[in-house]
Amino acid sequence: MQRCSKCVTPTSYPKTHLNHEGICNYCLDYENIYSNWENSKKDNIEKFIHLINWAKKRSKTYDALVPLSGGKDSIYVLYLARKKYNLKVLCYNFDNGFQSDIARENIKSAVDSTGADLIVVKPDEKLLMQLYKHFLKHVGMFCPVCMRGIYYGQFSIAKQHKIPLVLKGTSMRTEENLVPEIFQDGSLSFFKNVLKKFPFTSDIRPFLIDRDLKAKIFRAIYLLSKGKYIFGSIDIQVPEYFDWIYEDIYKIISNEMGWKALPDRDEHVDCLADPTVHYLRAIRCKALTPNTLRYSAEIRSCQMDRQKAINLIEEEKQAGIKTKYIDYFIDKLCISRQDLMSYMSNNLRHMKFQRDGLIMSGFNMIRKLI
Ligand SMILES: [Zn+2]
Repeated sequence: MQRCSKCVTPTSYPKTHLNHEGICNYCLDYENIYSNWENSKKDNIEKFIHLINWAKKRSKTYDALVPLSGGKDSIYVLYLARKKYNLKVLCYNFDNGFQSDIARENIKSAVDSTGADLIVVKPDEKLLMQLYKHFLKHVGMFCPVCMRGIYYGQFSIAKQHKIPLVLKGTSMRTEENLVPEIFQDGSLSFFKNVLKKFPFTSDIRPFLIDRDLKAKIFRAIYLLSKGKYIFGSIDIQVPEYFDWIYEDIYKIISNEMGWKALPDRDEHVDCLADPTVHYLRAIRCKALTPNTLRYSAEIRSCQMDRQKAINLIEEEKQAGIKTKYIDYFIDKLCISRQDLMSYMSNNLRHMKFQRDGLIMSGFNMIRKLI
């Protein structure tokens, strides 16, 4: 099997192209965006401080909303927000029905150790499972339901409490290079397009909550002005402003926030449905082990050696699938293994539902032009 010569992304992964040196487009994109990272670190931190000063001057009950999953990134964001920059923080957790005990414990320790407030949004579990099943059955993926839930909670809480900043632990710098063929992020247009073709009978109005028009315009102005003009409530991807070295982050959040990891990194800390997500991804792209794309991201940010990643991938292949998590997942959804397989038979059919609305298409076009 052929892989990128820099990271470990296999060439069978959708939209992967290698250049004459065997380097993939995901590595080249990363290099284009972050080649000046070392020289711009000071500026980036200053930009972040400018943002938090702006938020503090708004004098709201909370300066920042921190969505918490219980994983390392969001907990570290809370550490930075509370312990390093002394922001008034409201934390928010979306309980997707597959949240692990260790995620709950990590959230509790982090919130207790920082004195932040916490809101947990937990939809009716039966309804959630039916909705996961509905999406899985019709488009072969269920993550968009959870992602939509996370968004609606975030938009509603930020609006209700008039919170200027939403601080997130996700960013292209640290995340896997996910493409629409294997992952949909829960955009409202995708969600609605699926439901239009395959109506869901129960009331799921909260899942259709989006940013209001004013918030969308403010966000567009912020992005188009590259952060110069800030109004309303703004989402920030915190890893875009700081070094994000996991060796250091693990130490800090373990010592300062009471964070605990499971010893086996195959076992995703926050979400018990994660092994099923990877199982289904491997049906879409056979060369993917659960951590292949994560290792690629760590290699790009110089946190892992490529040969070590190759060795770990071999170990993952030898270990095979952890069926206990797949069984747990299908039991919760009240489906059989045969049902699950039948839902994956035409596994790119979700692609025809991913059209953006007119506003987003126009916005993306303008972003590309400037
Ligand atoms: Zn690569």
